[in-house]
Amino acid sequence: MCYFHALRDHPLSRRTFMAAAAAAPFAARFGDAAPAGPFVIAGARIFDGVRLLGAGNVVVSGGRIRSVTSGGAVPQRMPVHDGRGRTLVPGLIDSHTHYSEVSRRDAPRFGVTTELNLFSTLAELGDFADRRRSHAPTSLPDLWTAGTWATVPGGWGTGQGIDFPVLQDGMDPAAFVDARLAEGSDFLKIALEDVGMRGEPIPALSAAQVRGLAAAARRRGVRSVVHVSKQRYARMAFDNGVSGLAHVPSDVPADEEFLRAAKGSGAFVTSTLALLGAATYADDPARAAVVDDPRVAPYLSPDQHRQLQTPWPVKMPWNVETGLDNVGRLRRVGVPILAGTDAGAFGVAHGVSMLVELESLVRAGLRPAEALAAATSGPAAAYGLADRGRVLPGLRADLVLVNGDPTRDITVMRDVAAVWKNGSLIDRRF
Ligand SMILES: [Zn+2]
Repeated sequence: MCYFHALRDHPLSRRTFMAAAAAAPFAARFGDAAPAGPFVIAGARIFDGVRLLGAGNVVVSGGRIRSVTSGGAVPQRMPVHDGRGRTLVPGLIDSHTHYSEVSRRDAPRFGVTTELNLFSTLAELGDFADRRRSHAPTSLPDLWTAGTWATVPGGWGTGQGIDFPVLQDGMDPAAFVDARLAEGSDFLKIALEDVGMRGEPIPALSAAQVRGLAAAARRRGVRSVVHVSKQRYARMAFDNGVSGLAHVPSDVPADEEFLRAAKGSGAFVTSTLALLGAATYADDPARAAVVDDPRVAPYLSPDQHRQLQTPWPVKMPWNVETGLDNVGRLRRVGVPILAGTDAGAFGVAHGVSMLVELESLVRAGLRPAEALAAATSGPAAAYGLADRGRVLPGLRADLVLVNGDPTRDITVMRDVAAVWKNGSLIDRRF
C-alpha cells in the first residue's frame, strides 16, 4: 500500500519517487533502520485521544510529534503523507496482553504501539525498560509489565508449568510487592479466582491479603490490577483499594450496589471482551467479522491465525453477553473503561484483537470516540504513561492513520492507511 501523496522540495521528483517506491520493498526504505523524519501528515482529521479536532497538519521528527496545527498551509521542505479523508489517532495501548517475542511483533501492524503485559516472568522480556524510553525507530510495541502475579499456593496460574513466587500463608504482602518490584515489575497484578483452568475449585487470596497487597503497591507508587471473572471478587477488589480490574466480571449482571462500589472506589475496569467472546463462542461472530474483512485478512500473520483459531480447551464460566452488558452499566455510572484484549490467551491475538475489542466496546454502549479514548488517553492516564496516548506536541510519535472517520464508525479502524512507531513507518506486511 502506498499512500505518499506528494514530496515537496525533495531531491527526487514525485514521479521519480513513486517509481522508486513501486520498485523497492517497503521494509528496505522504511524498516527498523530508517531515520525518523521530519515529515508531515497533512489534512487528516485528528482524534487527539479525547476528542475529534478538525483537519490539520502534524509534523513528526526524531520520534516525537513536533507540532499539531489545525488547517493552514502544509509545512514545506519535508515529505508529506496525505491525510485527506483520513483520521489520525494516537497509537493504541492494549491494557491486557501476554508477552511473546514472536506474537507481539504483530501488534503495531494493527495500530497497537504499547502493550501492558499482565503476566510473564521478567527474564524473558530483555531490555524492555530501556527500549520504551528510546525514540529510535522500531517495529516493536513498547512494554510495561506486571511480571508474575500474586496468588496463594495452588491458586490461579499455578500448576501450569511456570514456577513463580506465591503469597504463602502468613507472608507480609508488602515484602511480596517489594520482591516483585525488585525483579523489575512496573505494577502489581493480583489474581482473584476460585475456578481453575480445568474447571476445578482452587483457593484464592483473602480480603485481608488483597488489602495488604493493594496498600503496599499504593505506598510504592505503583498500580495494582486484579484478575477477576466473578462480581463477588471484583467487589472484594474494589472494597480493598485496588487500582483496577484486568477483566470485566461476566458471571452475573452488575447490580446497583456493585456499581456504586465500583464508582466509589475510583478503580478502572479493563474490558477484555475479545477474550470473553473467544471463551463463549467457538466461532465468535465479533472476531469473525474482523478477521474475514478484506481490509484485515491480508495482513494476518500465520502466528495470528494460529492464535485466533486456538479454541478454549475447557468451557470457562465466562460470558461475553454478560460482559458486554456489564461494561455498558459500568460506563453509565462513570467507571473508567480501558480497552484490553488478553492477547496471548486462547482465541485472542496481538494487534488484530484490539479491533474486536474496540468494536465490542461500541456494542457495549460506548460512543466510538469513548472506545478510542479507552485505547489511548484512558490507559495513559490510568497507568501514568505521560509520553503517549494523545496527539500533542512533544509526545512520542506513535500514530495510526485510518481511511475514514472512526469517531462515526469504529469499524473504520480495520482500514489502516499507515502506522508509525516512534515516528518510524511500520511495514504492515509480515
Ligand atoms: Zn490475561
